[in-house]
Amino acid sequence: MKTAIVWFKTDLRLLDNEALVKAIAQSDQVVPVYCFDEAQFETTTYGFNKTGNYRAQFLLESVQDLDANLRKLGSGLVVLKGKPEEEIAKIVLQYRAQKVFAKREVAYEEKQTEKKVQDALFKLRCELETFSTSTLYHAEDLPFSIKDIPDVFTSFRKKTEFDATIRPIFEVPTAITSPEIAPMEIPSWKDLDLKKPKKESRAAIQFKGGETAALNRLHYYFFETKQLSVYKETRNGMVGADYSSKFSAWLAMGCISPRAIYDQIKKYEKENGANDSTYWLVFELLWRDFFRFMFKKYQTKFFLYTGIQPEKPISKKASESALSQWINGKTDSDFINANMLELKKTGFMSNRGRQNVASYFCNELQMDWRMGAAYFESQLIDYDVCSNWGNWAYLAGVGNDPRKHRYFNIEKQAKDYDKDGEFRKLWLLEN
Ligand SMILES: Cc1cc2nc3c(=O)[nH]c(=O)nc-3n(C[C@H](O)[C@H](O)[C@H](O)COP(=O)(O)OP(=O)(O)OC[C@H]3O[C@@H](n4cnc5c(N)ncnc54)[C@H](O)[C@@H]3O)c2cc1C
Repeated sequence: MKTAIVWFKTDLRLLDNEALVKAIAQSDQVVPVYCFDEAQFETTTYGFNKTGNYRAQFLLESVQDLDANLRKLGSGLVVLKGKPEEEIAKIVLQYRAQKVFAKREVAYEEKQTEKKVQDALFKLRCELETFSTSTLYHAEDLPFSIKDIPDVFTSFRKKTEFDATIRPIFEVPTAITSPEIAPMEIPSWKDLDLKKPKKESRAAIQFKGGETAALNRLHYYFFETKQLSVYKETRNGMVGADYSSKFSAWLAMGCISPRAIYDQIKKYEKENGANDSTYWLVFELLWRDFFRFMFKKYQTKFFLYTGIQPEKPISKKASESALSQWINGKTDSDFINANMLELKKTGFMSNRGRQNVASYFCNELQMDWRMGAAYFESQLIDYDVCSNWGNWAYLAGVGNDPRKHRYFNIEKQAKDYDKDGEFRKLWLLEN
């Protein structure tokens, strides 16, 4: 009897999940597993929780939804907590599994964990096979080797769009043969040493974790409201659920894949016509790919103060009070404050807001950009290691921005993007 473990990580979905499909095809029975990795709940060197309350809630919901969807197919989710290299090994022994199937990682810490699991499994004569499942373009289909990927997004995008194609999606399996899997027990808030966040009525959107909610959101944004057809005009907005797709949290947790989104964009275009907006969502997903591939190319460099640049920039201040004012929305700029309060109270901030608060942190406060990135890591519901550290390095002038010192005129930005002050009123009036 061939038994496989599918180790779910940030790919908490059934649709377009190559690891799951391959495990089913190659085995007689499959045991789906999720491990709450204790390292994800530690405090970082910058003093923040690695995973804050908002993302923890989204994760718990996503794991529950995955379990429910797996049970509909005759399976279920085994939930573990601890060190993956110990917990996955125990499960392999318990089920006498010959192989573990999982998503392939790109960032340093995640790769280290993957390596530790592989070493532990090797001792048990069990193989770990990994699959690239989180990008739009498959790494192997790129028209360059990883080390030759252009550092400038436009060069990367043009050549990739011209020379590479996007692979089709893997459909949801029709059934999964598994041993009896006991009802799932997820960690409590106390176990995670975190607090269930309060509901905030001013939130741009009430995020709910899981593949079911991700697919509902896609259906709403594309087919029900046809917001996709005006995305390019609305995407710089700051108030409400529909100025942008809000797919980020589901993408970050892998509740939906970028290829599944692409697949539905193509369907939408057939039914409703293609325009600049329908293309622009693909363009933005390419930014996401770009930062992932940059992480493959530069590995740990994105966590250095000098980023991927060889020159040494001037040293920056590390002021506790400036950091606290920024976090708590008490700076001298009402536009920055409104954005930072939105992040603090909801775990989300618009792309326009993120660019401004990061520029303010680096240029006005003259702070070490990595501290800002670490706060975002803790607080963002959609935190994604490559998108976060890649964008921060970009704005700090040590990443992939060919202009290097990008500087946002905050007052002008507020006038352009919050002309009548609606966004600032929302977050500053009843604070
Ligand atoms: C300083 C800073 C930090 C950021 N940190 C993160 C992060 O941790 N996680 C994250 O998903 N995004 C991050 N972003 C990118 C972007 O702000 C968010 O993806 C976006 O605001 C999420 O809202 P949306 O899904 O409605 O975006 P939409 O405008 O609807 O875009 C669709 C999707 O395209 C991708 N995308 C859009 N813009 C970018 C971008 N600049 N870089 C990478 N991908 C992009 C996202 O997956 C997004 O969900 C960051 C941007 C900045 C400036």
